[in-house]
Amino acid sequence: MSETGVQSGEIHERSRKALGDAHLQEALRSSTLRLYEHRLNAIREVPGFERLRERGRELKREVIENLDGYLAQFADQVERHGGRLHWATDAKEACAAVLEIARQAGAREIVKAKTMVSEEIELNHAFEAAGIRAVESDLGEFILQLAGERPGHIVAPAIHKTRQDVANLFQAKLHSELTLEPERLTLIARKALREVFERAMMGVSGANFAVAETGSIVVIENEGNIRLSTTAPRVHVALVGIEKLIPRFADLGVFLRLLARSATGQKLTSYTSILTGPCRPGEDGPEEMHVVLVDNGRVRALADPKMREALYCIRCGACLNACPVYRKIGGHSYGWVYSGPIGALVTPEFVGLDQARELPFASSLCGACREVCPVKINIPDLLLHLRSQAQEKAETPQPPDSPVRERTAMRLWAWAMKRPWAYSLGAWVTRWAMSFYARQGWIARFPKFPLSRWTAGRDFPALAPKPFRARWKKMRR
Ligand code: SF4
Repeated sequence: MSETGVQSGEIHERSRKALGDAHLQEALRSSTLRLYEHRLNAIREVPGFERLRERGRELKREVIENLDGYLAQFADQVERHGGRLHWATDAKEACAAVLEIARQAGAREIVKAKTMVSEEIELNHAFEAAGIRAVESDLGEFILQLAGERPGHIVAPAIHKTRQDVANLFQAKLHSELTLEPERLTLIARKALREVFERAMMGVSGANFAVAETGSIVVIENEGNIRLSTTAPRVHVALVGIEKLIPRFADLGVFLRLLARSATGQKLTSYTSILTGPCRPGEDGPEEMHVVLVDNGRVRALADPKMREALYCIRCGACLNACPVYRKIGGHSYGWVYSGPIGALVTPEFVGLDQARELPFASSLCGACREVCPVKINIPDLLLHLRSQAQEKAETPQPPDSPVRERTAMRLWAWAMKRPWAYSLGAWVTRWAMSFYARQGWIARFPKFPLSRWTAGRDFPALAPKPFRARWKKMRR
């Protein structure tokens, strides 16, 4: 069983450990770069991709600004089509609702499709405590369930595992042959899962989108396991974060095009299922369909007009693949379910800033996440907003390291920036001092603290030999 609770406060120790793990570094580097490049190639082929992003953003804004109305419309439509709707304000209520459905259905074994909300509410632990066996059917999630780990990525949960890791795990836990062939590994998982699909009385899924106009749940995937989990068992439960709504069925095309390309670089994922109510006479499918609408901190984000934008997220994972910090420290360092730039935004909102105050600081603010986000969330801006909230809330509002030194340096910097002569003089002295250490424009080692801490991990760029103002003057002449 995977670890529980929020451990975002341990981000520094976890990151250090991750940086020293060569195996993890290689797995992260190759997987994130591959996804990043796939996305680039995919969007190049779409004329007007920028317009599509604008449209996606506009639609999400429309929903989030009018969420109460759209939620009511969605709830009406779910019930009109024979589904049952449940509201959950927090993780406890959401788990209780699912357990009650399972109890009424007499389900002792449950098959689960990939759902980040279920990770968020720790549904597997609730099932375990109630004596119910829940089996993950997404290949990545299945691997993690065997390993007792949390997802390391929103879209590719087992991104940190190599083929060899998976082969060893299957051999140890499923007593299968040791093979490195992806096809054989998939067959081993498939065999274990088929038996569960046949027996399970209840299937649990998430939702990529929930259409207010029709009460439909939309799930996309490449493996076919979601289709089986939502249709083979007698009862289907969909866990849906309240921000997953989109206004109209016609809007779905915008999001399907944005999501697949941004997440995996595909034009469309292999399977797109649109589920509207339980099966009707003469149809195959579940006899009961339940939708659990989960708040769990989302309303808190909604209450802050600035942070509302974080709820536009369609969980494509593109910002993780682009983020230089995520690429090095991986998902587990963030200490909760959501990782990377979007994790640093939504975790403090969902679990409270007190529990995750380090996360907004775990960013270089380079803006790579904003560049790739399909709905153009201004992630760096929101991170800065959270940083200032964290500072305001802190008992002694100070940066974590060398507060006096850092604040003095900042004051000095602000003072010099307002006086050109002081700025020029400071730059001249710094350039002169750096010339003793610089080699080909880089400084490999500063002997003294605090700059020695910087060069312990990476080189420091030396100031250019000629200041910009001197070059500018020359150019103008
Ligand atoms: S913030 Fe944007 S890029 Fe990151 S997961 Fe969400 S939609 Fe994708």
